Amino acid sequence: MAKQRKYIFVTGGVLSSIGKGIAAASIGMLMEQRGIRVTMIKMDPYLNVDPGTMSPFQHGEVFVLDDGAETDLDLGHYSRFVQSCHFTRKNSFTTGRIYDTVIRRERAGGYLGKTVQVIPHITDEIKRHIRDGAADSDLAIVEVGGTVGDIESLPFLEAIRQMKAEEGAANVLFVHLTLVPYIGAAGELKTKPTQHSVKELREIGIQPDILLCRSDRKLPKDVKDKIGLFCNLPGEQVCSAVDVGNIYEVPLFFHEEGLDEKIAEKLGIWSGRPDLSLWENMVEKIRHPKGEVRIGIVGKYTDWRDSYKSLSEALIHGGVANDVKVNMIYVDSEDLEKGKSSLLDSLDGILVPGGFGERGVEGKSRAIEFARTHNVPYFGICLGMQLAVIEYSRNVCGLKHANSAEFKPEGSENVIDIMEAQKGLTDKGGTMRLGAYLCNITAKYDGEATRAYSAYGREVVSERHRHRFEVANSFRSRLEEMGMLVSGVHHDTASGTDLVEMVELPGHPWFLGCQFHPEFLSKPLQPHPLFAAFIRASKHVKKDFS
Ligand code: GLN
Repeated sequence: MAKQRKYIFVTGGVLSSIGKGIAAASIGMLMEQRGIRVTMIKMDPYLNVDPGTMSPFQHGEVFVLDDGAETDLDLGHYSRFVQSCHFTRKNSFTTGRIYDTVIRRERAGGYLGKTVQVIPHITDEIKRHIRDGAADSDLAIVEVGGTVGDIESLPFLEAIRQMKAEEGAANVLFVHLTLVPYIGAAGELKTKPTQHSVKELREIGIQPDILLCRSDRKLPKDVKDKIGLFCNLPGEQVCSAVDVGNIYEVPLFFHEEGLDEKIAEKLGIWSGRPDLSLWENMVEKIRHPKGEVRIGIVGKYTDWRDSYKSLSEALIHGGVANDVKVNMIYVDSEDLEKGKSSLLDSLDGILVPGGFGERGVEGKSRAIEFARTHNVPYFGICLGMQLAVIEYSRNVCGLKHANSAEFKPEGSENVIDIMEAQKGLTDKGGTMRLGAYLCNITAKYDGEATRAYSAYGREVVSERHRHRFEVANSFRSRLEEMGMLVSGVHHDTASGTDLVEMVELPGHPWFLGCQFHPEFLSKPLQPHPLFAAFIRASKHVKKDFS
């Protein structure tokens, strides 16, 4: 008989932003390290078909997968914590996608005249999506987005309640994350919000098996027992989830609390103890770096941290690879436009990340010019590469009107142009150049290894994309004649042309732009080669302020 698949459903209570994604990812990491074939799924209770069209300022970053799926940023956490999963669009779905599927089926006559309802049709579709996403695993960890008590999450909760009956009680575990605040005035940890959140869950038929209680300190045994008593579970099934210095410590803390052992026991999974030595080494390096570098991230002031989640994690990983702490300095590009160029003075490296829209672009270009002319390491990602090409065209190649068709559709010197495949598209959802494409790297230039090749040590790599514009091939020879090296291209077999994927400046200590988003592939145990190389260059930089 085939091995029975197990499911862990992770819900959250009391309030959002208490770390449900990291908690789910940590469970995934621990169970994987116990030798179990895990997968992770995120269900989001909003009506957008995917987060691709949502503002990153509202919803955080859009995380792109190899297959081009635009997903929730929690998929980024899963990818960084769990090593062997190959996530696809099946690992992330929204209420919008479920309704879209059901309504299309209804229009096609698929319900044979029945009245189509939330229960059973929407809930059946949710269960189908969960089982589909879990197909190649022995244990699926499924995170329910939102907070228990939201109207939007109800169909998901009803679906997972049904799954316990259908899959068998021994094969399904409900883990609920809540907040246990410490009230200074009373000198007490307060359990009432947790009690209420669990009461809400139990009203819809879900009894949590394990509670993870986020708090600023470890819960003493009497508090765990009290929570257990009110929430109808043994005190041993209540775990602390304390605030830690960095997110990669969370699984180690959970392990100390015995979480993976409890899960294995409750689900009847026979497995050894996890081998956490590599992970512990990595955490140790973050805790005790041997030096530090200051990296300026130049963006619009509205680009708050969550919209660059993978980027800031990839920089941390680059630091791990070089034994340094990466201090990220957010530089507002509009401040640079106002002439505050001293903001750049103390930086060891400058990074312009991906982005959309014209605001702040001039300030970003000034930062790039500064990095280029002062020998400060520069890393340009997607828009950051496009702007590096524009800056070089204007200031070195003499193309005074160089621009991007994104900002000047009718411009005469658009060195960055709309991609052929994007012309005339009006639908905004899922229509960019998305997902993994191969990039061919030039190994040598002028007898020396290119920066790209030195970083990767390979001539063909696969990287993830999310863009509509590209370097115009008609300007490529001009750029190259004037000293900008195209060190990576994608051979597009359909059109027979090469698409510029990487540029660099051979005489500069480290100046590299890439059209793709390397941050999506970086993991703490496998820092991305370009981030490792950029931080290495920033660590050794000898800036030229002459
Ligand atoms: N806005 C640019 C484009 O669409 C860059 C996109 C990005 O940085 N992700 O090509």
